[in-house]
Amino acid sequence: MHTLNETHDINLKSWENSANGCVQFPIQNLPFAIIRRKGSDEDWRGGVAIGNKVIDMAALASKNLFSGDAQTAVSAAAETSLNTLMGLGAKINAALRLALSKALREGSVQEQELASILIPAADIEFHLPCQIGDFTDFYTSIFHATAVGKLFRPDGPLLPNYKWVPIGYHGRSSSIGVSGQVFHRPVGQTKKPDESVPTVGPCQRLDYEMEMGIFIGEGTQMGDRISISNAEQHIFGVCILNDWSARDIQAWEYQPLGPFLAKNFASTISPWIVTTEALAPYRSKFSRSSDDPAPLEYLTSADNSQYGSLDIELDVLIETQAMREKSEAAQRLSRSNFNYSYWTPAQLVTHHSSNGCKMRAGDLLGSGTQSGPSQEEAGSMLELSEGGKKSFSLANGETRKFLHDGDSIIMRAACRKEGAAPIGFGEVVSTVMPAKG
Ligand code: MN
Repeated sequence: MHTLNETHDINLKSWENSANGCVQFPIQNLPFAIIRRKGSDEDWRGGVAIGNKVIDMAALASKNLFSGDAQTAVSAAAETSLNTLMGLGAKINAALRLALSKALREGSVQEQELASILIPAADIEFHLPCQIGDFTDFYTSIFHATAVGKLFRPDGPLLPNYKWVPIGYHGRSSSIGVSGQVFHRPVGQTKKPDESVPTVGPCQRLDYEMEMGIFIGEGTQMGDRISISNAEQHIFGVCILNDWSARDIQAWEYQPLGPFLAKNFASTISPWIVTTEALAPYRSKFSRSSDDPAPLEYLTSADNSQYGSLDIELDVLIETQAMREKSEAAQRLSRSNFNYSYWTPAQLVTHHSSNGCKMRAGDLLGSGTQSGPSQEEAGSMLELSEGGKKSFSLANGETRKFLHDGDSIIMRAACRKEGAAPIGFGEVVSTVMPAKG
């Protein structure tokens, strides 16, 4: 899936002018979402972004413009969720990508037909892209794991299994929402070190986690094990994931079975899924420090070492209620890169299925908080505030250790590489409301 082909050609131009020079959704990207016209009661259906327009995939399906695998995929993309499309697998999805790329190119004989079914992106609203059957969250940034470990276990921040096993836990899909999600501050049981008994109340240490979300494409049967060489074939694509976290609830509840109510009150994803194939130009080497153990054989392949990582720039911004009231621009909190991940997406998929666990189209794997080595690359407030010990100042004079009611967190992700067209993931925005009484 790392193979470059004509759909990645930097010189491709579309007859849809807004796509040319667009750093988010040029013709080389073609990400998928579930859409309808804003405020309408139309059926949800698939959409593909091109510049500042969106292709209505249900309208495209009814035109019968494509044939073979491409038309099979268009029909699946017309459904109310993308699960069927995802489950068709890499080969059929590649046929759709090629057909769309050709139809959208300058000089295409299909221009008229396609142009008639474009909807301005400004007129679109989004739904979750698919039914997420299962949500697994990993912990793949060694910088985040070390920083968080130091706060919870100062004498041994990184547990001995970290460099051998991709650490993860099973999350909950019912609380995952799409960008625009507004949620109430969670209430929970907490106990400070100097208190003798726990108390119940609104979370005092509400945090975000900057993550990538990996959507499973073609699924497996129980007992099947996905090999590292096939793993990319089972990844439909990638989105941005804000995995909201209640740090005070987490600190009290996480031992011995891991995260529970600190993690399942809200998680927000970007509406657009950038496909595995679109990410091909931005693949990069996966390597480890020579002091670290090499991954076990089932997590190793020449391709994974050569192309397993993804070079995706990640930005986190905050917009407080005060900023919103004064129409001030959101302020950046950090910038990191998915490249820092200690495990690749292929290794996560391979490890997840290594016991025969059944994987289904639309399952979501969170990467874990993507922090880099420096403080400016911290993917959570827990790290920015050093465990709530230091408040940090915003440009408008406000300070934060953790999130306040009314705060919005905005996450963006983008790929840029010499010789390739820049592409983006759009953004995910979500806002904290006061706890429900
Ligand atoms: Mn997480």
